[in-house]
Amino acid sequence: MTLSEAEDKTESHHHQLVLVPHFIAGEPLVSGDCYLPVEDPALGHEIRKVILADRSVSERAIMAAQDALPAWRATPPAKRAQIMFRFKQLLERDAEIICSLISEEHGKTIEDARGELKRGIENVDYACGVQELLKGEYSHDAGPGIDTWSNLQSVGVVAGITPFNFPAMVPLWMFPMALACGNTFILKPSEQVPSASIRMAELLHEAGLPAGVFNVLQGDREAVEVLIAAPEVKALSFVGSTPVARAIYEGGTRHGKRVQALGGAKNHAVVMPDADIDNAVEALLGAAYGSAGERCMAISVAVCVGDAVADELIVRIADRARDLRIGPGLQPGNDMGALINRGHRERVAGYLESGVVDGAELLVDGRDHPLGTESEGYFLGASLFDRVTPDMSIWQDEIFGPVLCVVRVESLDAAIALIDSHAYGNGTCIFTRDGAAARQFADSIEVGMVGINVPLPVPVASHSFGGWKSSLFGDLHAYGPDAVRFYTRRKAISQRWPGSAVVSAQFSFPS
Ligand code: NAD
Repeated sequence: MTLSEAEDKTESHHHQLVLVPHFIAGEPLVSGDCYLPVEDPALGHEIRKVILADRSVSERAIMAAQDALPAWRATPPAKRAQIMFRFKQLLERDAEIICSLISEEHGKTIEDARGELKRGIENVDYACGVQELLKGEYSHDAGPGIDTWSNLQSVGVVAGITPFNFPAMVPLWMFPMALACGNTFILKPSEQVPSASIRMAELLHEAGLPAGVFNVLQGDREAVEVLIAAPEVKALSFVGSTPVARAIYEGGTRHGKRVQALGGAKNHAVVMPDADIDNAVEALLGAAYGSAGERCMAISVAVCVGDAVADELIVRIADRARDLRIGPGLQPGNDMGALINRGHRERVAGYLESGVVDGAELLVDGRDHPLGTESEGYFLGASLFDRVTPDMSIWQDEIFGPVLCVVRVESLDAAIALIDSHAYGNGTCIFTRDGAAARQFADSIEVGMVGINVPLPVPVASHSFGGWKSSLFGDLHAYGPDAVRFYTRRKAISQRWPGSAVVSAQFSFPS
């Protein structure tokens, strides 16, 4: 039974499935009897179930990817790129179906889901240029009669493990380039948002991708542990929280794999006294509360340089934060949807409590929002803290919710020192009209991605994405040029074609 046929047999809308399967060796697979509920966070109840892989299903996915590898690796890059072109067209054709699934399972607004998918598709665009990216390097006459060239060869079977907050975009950071480079792929999406991956697997299949080249393994920790230990899996791309990222990096490298593991974040925006305050307020509202703060690039701390700018900023943000339109993601016109699940909502609300206990000033309390009590959904209004200090857990921890903390400092140097003292180093930005200050900030800050009057400096697909410190374990960043390096191995080949003269034995090191 194909997925579409399975859907026809369901009574659901939005092309939903009642049971979300794996996708292995070119077809949906339901095997085993372990399931988890998938919830609609706006409704606060289960809408479908996802099957969870046990060891045997995980091994089946690995075998499928291993079996498909020789033929796919030998397929010319131009042909692989053609499939990516078709995949891009199909993603655009079915964008609304995919975005509805994202919004429904994650809770983010449909507009936000459309933005996520667009940014994801950029990575398919970039992968379509793989012929150019894999050209390698060549030196004629590297030695007498010797030519040397470097090839970029595929790594083999690659696995990607992705978080709940970008059900399409983060997988699209990984697999288009991995596939274009000649690898086969196993995606282990977040069990909280499993449907978008299955849609994408179907579209790849429709685009002409051979069976087994791309597989989706639904599951949790158990499936991931099989992937980490399997000798056939040569590389792991992970995006998620820092404790899991660290564990996957350590486990994967111990098993001799290449690993890139992107973790959590606490992103600071510095607001200088000379900032264009109108623009800074708008930028901060979107960056702090968009997607209910469930973004690894969300701004969760505004560092105000001087009390004057802080006093103005908090009044203006507070006014707007109280008025944000909150509701189901699929209902048009909302600014913010529900949080991912009940436990996470409680966790974020707990931080509001602990911030108050620790002495921060809670200017806007998201727990007061009527939807929080009147609805079964996992809604929480936007919150704003002033006078946050580095000893507080609301500054130290990634809250991953719609909470903005204001820290007041006296100078740009103090702002930089504060940011550099944090464990995370994913993204940051500065609002200023002073080019020299912006340059000093960008040059010295210990953070991987920097915005200058750009609140969410997520690089375009032709650059790479990655944080520093506890926000990334490994050497290479995600997507862009680093993805070409991550998903290939370099081989250097030197050749000589001797003529009639014999080249005599040489006992010193060839020079
Ligand atoms: P998570 O770490 O709980 O889960 C991520 C993935 O790992 C999921 O597929 C999950 O099934 C799997 N997993 C969970 N526990 C595991 C374990 N013990 N062993 C093996 N696998 C395990 O993260 P999440 O809650 O889904 O996502 C939110 C987190 O992701 C936040 O910390 C956020 O900052 C981070 N994130 C980071 C980036 C980035 O680019 N740095 C991007 C998006 C999200």
